[in-house]
Amino acid sequence: MERNITTLGIVLHSQRWGQANRRLKVLSVDLGIVNVVSYGAQKSRKAVKAEVFCDGQFFLYYNPVKGDYTLKDLSPIAGHEEIREDLSLTYTGLFFCEIIIKVHGGESAEEYSLLSKALDLLTIMPERRSLILIQFIHRLSDVLGIRVALDRCPGCGHPYGEGEIVYFSSLSGSQCCERCANLERTLLLPPGARRYLTLTADMSFDEAVGVDLNEGALERIKAYMLGYAQYFCPGELATLASGLL
Ligand SMILES: [Zn+2]
Repeated sequence: MERNITTLGIVLHSQRWGQANRRLKVLSVDLGIVNVVSYGAQKSRKAVKAEVFCDGQFFLYYNPVKGDYTLKDLSPIAGHEEIREDLSLTYTGLFFCEIIIKVHGGESAEEYSLLSKALDLLTIMPERRSLILIQFIHRLSDVLGIRVALDRCPGCGHPYGEGEIVYFSSLSGSQCCERCANLERTLLLPPGARRYLTLTADMSFDEAVGVDLNEGALERIKAYMLGYAQYFCPGELATLASGLL
């Protein structure tokens, strides 16, 4: 294995490691999610600054004996400092990172592109935070291959009527018609929400975030998407439980 590795990545998590070091979780395009030790990051001013949400080119050293990665240098593309300066934005960013850590399954390049874009959008248009959150989950379900078309029930094939409310089946893990729904009655999509998700499914992330929703619809779809995210994530999402999203 190459000892010196260069890869695009984003810091998902950072914690103190020993006296003066930090241990990072980095989503990298080339290696998936890796644990990286950043030596001296706590104290030295010369140490490489690799804070959570930082997106850039990582220069890593792999120690085949210890089996770990060390951060040699980082050339940032976007530091996303603005996200860390606001509590709601911070929690939204941390929610994205937590989901990626929990569902990561090998689509590293796609996950990287999605997260990179989501963090850029949070930085550029913080006032659209809820729409970015909705679209992040919507797009992630596509990356994970679990998104279903919202024009018919995937369980029984019944085409939805224009005004039909769509429910959720925890058996198939997807939207479904009322007859196929089981106990997850809290997860439901009114017709307007279904139209919005269908309309924005094929748009770019930027375009989709530009589509306006009224306050009520925004809150309903957001609640649905958060419930959906918790459904497809193994284990409780701590950032979701915080109530700050
Ligand atoms: Zn059905």
